[in-house]
Formats: sequence, C-alpha cells, structure tokens
Amino acid sequence: MPFSKLGLALSLNQKLIDKKYSKPFPIQQQAIPAIIKGKDLLGIAQTGSGKTASYVLPILSIIKPEKDNKNRDVNALILVPTRELAGQVQEVFKEFNFCLKSPLNINAVFGGVSINPQMKGLFGVNILIATPGRLLELIRANALSLSKLKHLVIDEADKMLNLGFKEEMDEIIKLLPEKRQNLLFSATLSDKVKEINQLVLNKPIIVKIKPRDENLDLIKHEAYFIQDDNKGPLLRHLIVSEKMQQVLIFTSSKFKADSVAAKLRKHEIQATSIHGEKSQGSRTESLRKFKDGSLRVLVATDLLARGIDIEFLPIVVNYELPRSPKDFIHRIGRTGRAENPGKAITFVSEDEEHHFKIIQKKMDKVIKLIDGDRLELI
Ligand code: AMP
Repeated sequence: MPFSKLGLALSLNQKLIDKKYSKPFPIQQQAIPAIIKGKDLLGIAQTGSGKTASYVLPILSIIKPEKDNKNRDVNALILVPTRELAGQVQEVFKEFNFCLKSPLNINAVFGGVSINPQMKGLFGVNILIATPGRLLELIRANALSLSKLKHLVIDEADKMLNLGFKEEMDEIIKLLPEKRQNLLFSATLSDKVKEINQLVLNKPIIVKIKPRDENLDLIKHEAYFIQDDNKGPLLRHLIVSEKMQQVLIFTSSKFKADSVAAKLRKHEIQATSIHGEKSQGSRTESLRKFKDGSLRVLVATDLLARGIDIEFLPIVVNYELPRSPKDFIHRIGRTGRAENPGKAITFVSEDEEHHFKIIQKKMDKVIKLIDGDRLELI
C-alpha cells in the first residue's frame, strides 16, 4: 500500500515523494493507520526499521495543538534514552513539520547542557522530545506542564530501562492525564519492558518487525588478518585506494579512537574521534559534519554503535574487535540499512583470531581472511 493510502496529511505525502520514500516500510504500513485512528501501539522494532517516521508522520497529521499556549502545555511528548536520539527525532519532526500548513512548535531537551536556554525554548511548545532526567528537572522548575498531554511516545523503551530510567519514567507517567494515546517502541520485549507496557498501554495494536540483526544479508564482509602495527597503514591504503568518502571506524578504547584519528589527520585524511569523554557540543558537531558529508572519517567507540542512524552509510571498519558478538552486529548494523547495501571491513590481529571465529559462529557466517601483512600498500 502506498503512503498516500495511509491517511496522512496531504502536505506530508508530497514531502515523502520529495524525499524519495517510494513506499512505507512494514512498520510504517502497520503503525500509521492505527495511530491515526487514535489507538495505542506497541512496536517491537529497532533503529533502521523506519520506526521514527512511523510515529512522527501520524502525530503531525492528527495533533491538535493548544491555541494560545501560554501555559507551556505539551501536546505530544517523545521520551528517549539519549541526547543523540533526541536530536535525531527532532530532526525528523522538523523536516516534516516545515511542510505543514500551520507548522508546530517542536523542541528537544536533554541533559549535559545548560538548562536555562532550554527553559526559554519551551514557550508555546507543542511537541517535546526529552530525556527523562532533564524533563523532570524542567517540570520541577515549572518550565512546562504535561497536564494536557494527548500523545505519549516512549522510544527505545528497553534502552531507557537498561540505562536505569525506570524511576524517572514512573514519576513522569504519574503526571500524565488519564486520557491519552500511548505509543511504545522497543527493540526487545524483556520482562521489564512488559511491565512498562502494562503500566502505560491501553489495548495496544502490536507490531513486530524482524530485527535487522537477523537480517544482515545486505552487508558485504571483508576481513584482513593483520598485525597490530600494520593496521594503520592498511587503513590508509584502503581509504585512499578505494576512494572511500564516508567511513565509520570502530575502536575498542577512547585512547585508540583518538590515536587512529590523529594518525589519519597526520596523513592528510580528514578524521575526528567521538566517544564518551568528548563534550556534547563536539559530539553533535562531529556527527552533523559526518552525516552531511563534510567529514570523511569518524572514529568511534561502541558508544556510537547503538541508536545512531546515519542514512546510507556505505562502509564500517572494525579496527579492533568489540568484546561481544552482539556489539559486532550492532556496529556493522550502521551500514546496509534502510535497504541499501553496505560493506563491513574487519581487521583481525593474531590475538583476535579466536574471538573473530566466535563472532562468525554467532552470525552463522564464514568470512574469509585476507592476509593483510602481505599486501602491497600505497
Ligand atoms: P529509523 O528506524 O527511524 O531510525 O529509520 C531508518 C532510516 O530509514 C532513516 O535513515 C530514514 O530516513 C529511512 N527511512 C524511513 N522510512 C523510509 C521509507 N519509507 N523509505 C526509505 N527510507 C526510509
């Protein structure tokens, strides 16, 4: 079924054509009509499935904002676990919001940055994307009210619980009016998530999308058996000889991420590292540049592997193996997404060979090792 038959606002359909979204992804096909009808929804889906648009588009189509919203009453609240996801969700909302006849006031709030500018930005807000801790701080400061909320979205509920936000979520839920629409998205359905579902959802429509992790067929693998000292030269060789323009590289430590990026820069390959010790401003800026193509190489620790969506990322390099096969799958899941083919290049040193065998076994895949130490490098 095409987007035009799902009941979305007409102006959104035109934007979808402009964005070359030729047809709805399965989650969108199932979730959009249900949300438009006002139903509650439980979406078992991961990043990459198209889950963000599956709630952004219908919410923008049905939301009826408060007129003259002087009380800072939020109409739709999107709870997310991380600042990065808050930024991404806001971007998707804003992109589609601009084509509405009467665009809405959309804002995102999250911790790690000063609270005062966020307070000011809440004047007249209709749709708010928030991490739980900062949201509660703002509520306590009377910077916003949830008493007229109509739509609640909890995105990446499992991650939210894993990060220890259960108490904050309970507190927020207690502040909501009883009559509201609830949409909950989670990659997995653990007991803890089930508990939240029972607390929040009212006779939900359930949509379950096969996880990408079980569908890695779009990714082409290339693996090099290589001594640690030769990893840097091989990396530069591949980037230059294959004219790679947008490469995400994973290392296992912050120190290594910094040193790999610094060495690339020394060889005049534009690169930046991103990890937990970088400031929020620097992380956001690096991601923005990498996404828009103005930064060629981003070197990251596993912090970036979950949740972050980069459209059409062609290449991921595992400079070092992650500790668990699950993390390996999350890393390579940054490529080959949204039905686009991608390539995962993995460097395997002697110490890592046994671990790489375990990873392949878990993926049910055999990846041939190329002898990287014997290659003639440019
Ligand atoms: P998400 O799971 O929301 O993080 O979305 C994954 C990616 O798929 C994003 O880069 C979206 O821009 C893209 N996307 C979402 N829906 C569609 C669609 N119907 N057609 C093509 N790309 C889409």
